[in-house]
Amino acid sequence: MKWDEFSRWGTRISNWASSYHKTLRERPVRAQTKPGDIINALPLSPPEDGEEMEKIFADFEADVMPGITHWQHPRFFAYFPANAAPPSMLAEFLVTTLAQQCMLWQTSPAATEMETRMLEWLRQAIGLPQEFSGVIQDSASSATLVAVLTMRERALDWQGNKKGLAANPRLRVYCSSEVHTSIDRAIWVSGIGQDNLVRIATKGELRGMDPEELEAAIKADLAAGLKPAGIIACTGGTGSGSADDLASIIAIGKKYDLYIHVDAAWAGAAMICPEFRTLWKGVEGADSVVFNPHKWMGAQFDCSAHFLKNPDSLVKTLAIQPEYLKTHGHDGLINYSEWSVPLGRRFRALKIWFLIRYYGLEALRNRIRNHVSWSKSLAQRLAKQPDFTITTGPVLSLFTFRYTPSGKHNLDEINQQLVNRINDEGLLYLTQTRVDGQLVIRFQVGQFDVEEEDVIAAFDIIASTAREEIFQ
Ligand SMILES: *Cc1c(COP(=O)(O)O)cnc(C)c1O
Repeated sequence: MKWDEFSRWGTRISNWASSYHKTLRERPVRAQTKPGDIINALPLSPPEDGEEMEKIFADFEADVMPGITHWQHPRFFAYFPANAAPPSMLAEFLVTTLAQQCMLWQTSPAATEMETRMLEWLRQAIGLPQEFSGVIQDSASSATLVAVLTMRERALDWQGNKKGLAANPRLRVYCSSEVHTSIDRAIWVSGIGQDNLVRIATKGELRGMDPEELEAAIKADLAAGLKPAGIIACTGGTGSGSADDLASIIAIGKKYDLYIHVDAAWAGAAMICPEFRTLWKGVEGADSVVFNPHKWMGAQFDCSAHFLKNPDSLVKTLAIQPEYLKTHGHDGLINYSEWSVPLGRRFRALKIWFLIRYYGLEALRNRIRNHVSWSKSLAQRLAKQPDFTITTGPVLSLFTFRYTPSGKHNLDEINQQLVNRINDEGLLYLTQTRVDGQLVIRFQVGQFDVEEEDVIAAFDIIASTAREEIFQ
C-alpha cells in the first residue's frame, strides 16, 4: 500500500469512527448474531491475489459489524465497562504508527520514561503513598499472575524458579470466595495448585473475607506443616462488588510475614475520588495493588496499572539478566520487560498521558461520581417496586437485583429469561451472577458516554419487560 492510499483510508476510517460513535444509541447493544454467522461469511481459504481496500472495507461493514457487541454503547450495563475515550483512541493511532517494542529502556526511552511518569501520576491520582512504584501490565490477570509468582519465590527463599515446586514445602495462598477467576488461573499457572488456594468465607454487608477465619486457616496450615505464602485481597469483586476489610486482612498477613496483593481491577479507578477511598482503607499496607485504567477510567484496553511497594522482589522473580546487570531502576534506567512475563511490550503509557491531559482529573472524577449516583438512584427506584428485590446494594456503581413477583417459585429461571429477553431486544445489555446461590441480575453504570437519561431508560425497559405477560 502506498502511503497516499494509506492517508486516504486513514481519513475515511477516522470519519467512520466518529459517525459510529455518534450513532451508537441506534444499534442493539449486544450482537444479535447466532454462533457461526460470522465465520460462515468468511471465505474458507485465503486469497491468492490482493484485493481492493474498498472491497475489504465493504465486507468489514457487511460481515463483521453485525457480530460486534458494542462495548462503547452508552447503554452497556453488563460486566464492567471497557472504556475508550476519544483522546485515548487518538493516542493509540500514534502508538500503532510508531509500533514500538518497549522491552528495554534503550529500545524505547520515551515509552519507558513516559510509563514511569504516568504510573507516578496514577499513583497520586488514586492516593497511594509515594513508596509505591508502578508498571503497566496488559491485564489485571497478568498483574495478579506476577504477584503470585513473587509470593511463591519470596516464600521459597527465591529457589522456586530454579528447583521447581516439587523440592519445596506446599505453599498456601488465601483469598475470599468472591475473587475473580484470574486468581485461580494465577494459582494454576504458578504451579501452586488449586487445592492450595484457600477460600475464606465472607461476612458483612460488603462480603469481605472474615479476618478470624483467615487467621484460623493460616494457623491450621502452619500446624499441618504447610507454608503460607500470601493473600490476595479484593476491592470491588466482579460478581457484586465485594470488598475485603484491607486494614484487618493486611495486619494478619504481616503478622505471618505473607505477601499481600490487592485486586482492585474495576474499583481502583474510583479511587481518584477521595470520598470513595474508605472502600480500600488500609491499602497502603499492601505489597502490590492492581487496577485497570482500561475499565472505568477511559484509557482503552490494554492498560492495567500495577503498583509495587518493592519492585526488587518482582524483578528478582522475573528478570533473566545476570546479577551484575540488575539495576532495578536504581540508576534511573528501567527495563520494564523485567517486570512482566512477556518480553515485548506496547507503548501503553501514551494513552494515559493524552487522556489525563485532555480531561484533567476533575472531569474524570465527576464522571465516576455521576455513575455512582445514577446507579444508586436506580437501585432505590427498583427497591420501591413491590415485584423487585435488591439482592446486594450498590458498591460504587454496581448492584444486583432480582425480579421477585409473588407466587412464583422458579425465580432463577424467570430472571435468566428476563436478562435474555432484554439483551435480545438490544436496548440495554445486562449480565447475571449468583449471590448466595441465587441467580441475580447485575447492573453497573460506567460507560464513558452514558447519560442520566440512559439509566432512567434502563428502569423503564427492565420494569416493562419484566411485567410482560410471558413472565406472569
Ligand atoms: C476485570 C477484573 C479482572 C480481570 O481483568 P483483566 O484486565 O481482564 O485481566 C480481575 N479482577 C477483577 C476484580 C476484575 O473486575
